[in-house]
Amino acid sequence: MATGSYDRVMAAGEGRPSRLILQSLSPLSPEFWRGNPELVLASITLAALLTGWLGGSVSGLLPGWAVVIFALVAYGAGGYSGAKVALANACCGVFNIDLLMVAAALGAALIGEWEEGALLLFLFTLSGALESFASERTRQAITGLAELRPDTARILRDGQEVEIGVEALSVGDAVVVRPGERMPVDGSVLLGSSTVDQSPITGESIPVYKEIGDPVFSGTINGSGALELQVTRLASESTISKIIGLVQEARNNAAPTQRLIDRFSQPYTLVVIGATVLAAIVPILFTDEPISQTVYRAITLLVVASPCALIISTPASILSAIAAAAREGVLFKGGAYLERAAALDMFAFDKTGTLTSGNPQVTDVVPLNGYTEQELIAIAAGAESLSEHPIAQAVVRRAQEMDLPYESPREFRGIAGHGVQAVYGRGARRELISIGNDKQFESEEMELPPSIRMIGRRLQEEGKTAILVVRRSIATDAVARENASGRGEAVGFLAVADTVRSGAADTIEALKELGIERMVMLTGDNRDASAAVAEQTGVEEVYADLLPGEKVEVLERLVKSGSVGMIGDGVNDAPALAASSLGIAMGGAGTDVALETADVVLMSDDLGKLPFMLRLSRRASEIVRQNLYFSVAVILALVALTVVVPLLVPGFRLPLPLGVLGHEGSTLLVVVNGLRMLTMKSS
Ligand code: ADP
Ligand code: MG
Repeated sequence: MATGSYDRVMAAGEGRPSRLILQSLSPLSPEFWRGNPELVLASITLAALLTGWLGGSVSGLLPGWAVVIFALVAYGAGGYSGAKVALANACCGVFNIDLLMVAAALGAALIGEWEEGALLLFLFTLSGALESFASERTRQAITGLAELRPDTARILRDGQEVEIGVEALSVGDAVVVRPGERMPVDGSVLLGSSTVDQSPITGESIPVYKEIGDPVFSGTINGSGALELQVTRLASESTISKIIGLVQEARNNAAPTQRLIDRFSQPYTLVVIGATVLAAIVPILFTDEPISQTVYRAITLLVVASPCALIISTPASILSAIAAAAREGVLFKGGAYLERAAALDMFAFDKTGTLTSGNPQVTDVVPLNGYTEQELIAIAAGAESLSEHPIAQAVVRRAQEMDLPYESPREFRGIAGHGVQAVYGRGARRELISIGNDKQFESEEMELPPSIRMIGRRLQEEGKTAILVVRRSIATDAVARENASGRGEAVGFLAVADTVRSGAADTIEALKELGIERMVMLTGDNRDASAAVAEQTGVEEVYADLLPGEKVEVLERLVKSGSVGMIGDGVNDAPALAASSLGIAMGGAGTDVALETADVVLMSDDLGKLPFMLRLSRRASEIVRQNLYFSVAVILALVALTVVVPLLVPGFRLPLPLGVLGHEGSTLLVVVNGLRMLTMKSS
């Protein structure tokens, strides 16, 4: 697979299930029949049934023993797979629909209606074939990713290219990827640059430009440049392998509707058996109806009351929906979350990295107490150099841009929602650099003169995040707030500002159009900076200055008033995601944490998938509901026609073939209705 011709790349990019369905639906291809043994059995059943029926009861051309042989063939072929499943289940005390069908067919043969029994077996086998075909389709739509992952990679050994299996790659190996090929591993670019189609992972249709140092993901498609990659993850741990694992798990994580159905199907089956026995015995005991007619009605009841359609209705729709979403880079971790997404009343957004790009820039540098701008930035960058926070990265980036040397601290502590503390020097020369917001200095019990506070306030009023850098000497060991008090010297203020994500306002607008009325923003940033972002995005309700624990408290309060979808970057928002009704993480292609903590993962950094997520989940729930109502209605109608109408209209009897047709037809309809979800796209 590693040799990617242009054709292959095109075919892979367009691997839409609708097309795959058409391809394998062509009955001319031998693979079609080989992959569907049930279809072969159904065809044999039909052929034997038609021959026996036309040659026997219609024309009388065939001798009686020949008709018997055709009937036996039809029963053998048609009953084979059903009987196998029924026996396997009956051995462990489970009675299921297969058992009901086989029993009904045998009953029909007993009263001399073998053709009708064979027709039942034919339709049952046929619909079984179509169902497994459909579930195979959804499975393939899900694992289509896996098939697109190359099996081999070309690695560089002593300047020579050697082709090896991807499992044999180790972290640090150098791999060569030619234009048009798929990335065999997760890695970072060592050499070259190219545009990469990441749609298999993120659902983003626009190729992303990659140059030295940028990450690439296994399964994505290289554009026109040749790349040399350094392997950063083993093949088994690649992002795509994780996605496949998660989606497969999602299949086991059933939706509540399905759990309900699963719980009822066994007792219901027993009820059907009981009703059938009653329908056969009561008239024989208490009326003088011919026995064959009574048994015929009981068999019809057995067939039409069976819950085939009901049982298949939910998984067919949910699995198709999960597959369609995964293709667009929206990963549902289970059918349960699909139902929850459909029921959301409000969205809560994390500000930094979610509504904003998470790439803040240093906008203002205000040195105090005789420090120069350079000194301020160098001191701040040193103290922030060990922090992962976007603010820290902005400061460090600024120092690098200005070519300022900075020094990493000897001791370091990041305080969530406050800032950082860093220790330099030894012994009597020890000093602490403290950087952060008001809360940081309040908890350090440091008195800031009003003139200094004013500077910070002014910067914040401009919608920026102001952080103060303070330097002080400390006598004792250990970085701790208690030891940090004392008069410090303000080195100066830095202000950073983040840009609102392009498209954030449109997304919020689209969500409002979909009927979500409450949009909430949660952030640890200051009030003014948050208000500026709120205004630009259209979010109306803002909770600012929150510590991570307080975000959870706010969410718990929100959840009491409705179902809340929380969207965050998943890295430092894990507790908030967990406290919401539905945790949605962005940027799953970049971080493992996001993949693990959320209920739904947007693989790309694209908020714009939220309206799609909402529409898809609502439509899936809608289809599940349609299927449920429809299958129950068909069962009720057919049962009424079988047992109630004959009581009111003497001489009426529902022909068994009609009952079979209604029953199997409704089963197929709900499956097809569910498969419609596969065609849903984000735009
Ligand atoms: P958000 O909810 O926006 O992700 P955080 O809880 O990460 O916010 O941070 C809240 C505030 O804490 C920041 O706006 C900043 O004032 C301060 N802060 C956090 N980390 C740092 C840091 N490394 N350097 C300076 N200030 C910080
Ligand atoms: Mg954050």
